[in-house]
Amino acid sequence: MSLPKIYGFNPNSEAGEDCTAASIFLYGCNMRCPFCMNYRLVHGAAKKPRVVSLKRVKKYVLENDTPMVIISGGEPCLCKNIEALVNEIRSWPCKVGLCTNGTCYSTLFKILPLINFVAVDVKSPNQDIYDEFDKVHGRWGYMLLSESLLDIREEAKGRNDFSYELRTTMYRPLINPSNVQQFACLVNRDDRWVLQHFRNNIALLDSSAQEEEPLNNEEVDIVLKIARNFCSNVIERYV
Ligand code: SF4
Repeated sequence: MSLPKIYGFNPNSEAGEDCTAASIFLYGCNMRCPFCMNYRLVHGAAKKPRVVSLKRVKKYVLENDTPMVIISGGEPCLCKNIEALVNEIRSWPCKVGLCTNGTCYSTLFKILPLINFVAVDVKSPNQDIYDEFDKVHGRWGYMLLSESLLDIREEAKGRNDFSYELRTTMYRPLINPSNVQQFACLVNRDDRWVLQHFRNNIALLDSSAQEEEPLNNEEVDIVLKIARNFCSNVIERYV
């Protein structure tokens, strides 16, 4: 069985567990978020980055006692044989994590018991945004994400070797002081919710997103304050 190809390797990335992890990046995504920084993993085949061998990743992990390997993308749950890749990494002396947009519910459901950590994007509380961004599921993407969140929370209740975090990029059209309260329909009090700063000074999937100004300090403070009214573990993160 052929394993998904790896198109990027970051030996030191921040994991939600407050530990350093190695990240590997798989190709392809069902979504088209304008602010995506991994656009080379989303666009057409001609722009694919170079393949990294799994052997090289394994060698690095073994030599450096890397505590966790996070499978990221693109959207890793779209990749054929993702389960086999997870099982291969599970055979190494490290934990396995996953970054996902949460909309590929059936695959995520299958691999949740095999992994130790999942970071799931919560883009917007608005179904119309999923309709616009999710080119495979349309507005059903929102429902699939909601189902994924239920399963992830259940998984966390039943295991002490599993944790998760929700991630939202503070992209002004999606989250701002006026609408942050609406995220309470997706984010629960006990979730760990990471609010990531949006950057417009780098190449993004949609160049028009670079014209969006990041929230200023005062707006970020308001967003964090409102978020903390309904979620007890809100974390601000620079990416
Ligand atoms: S941000 Fe994530 S979900 Fe959105 S297009 Fe990029 S890889 Fe896909």
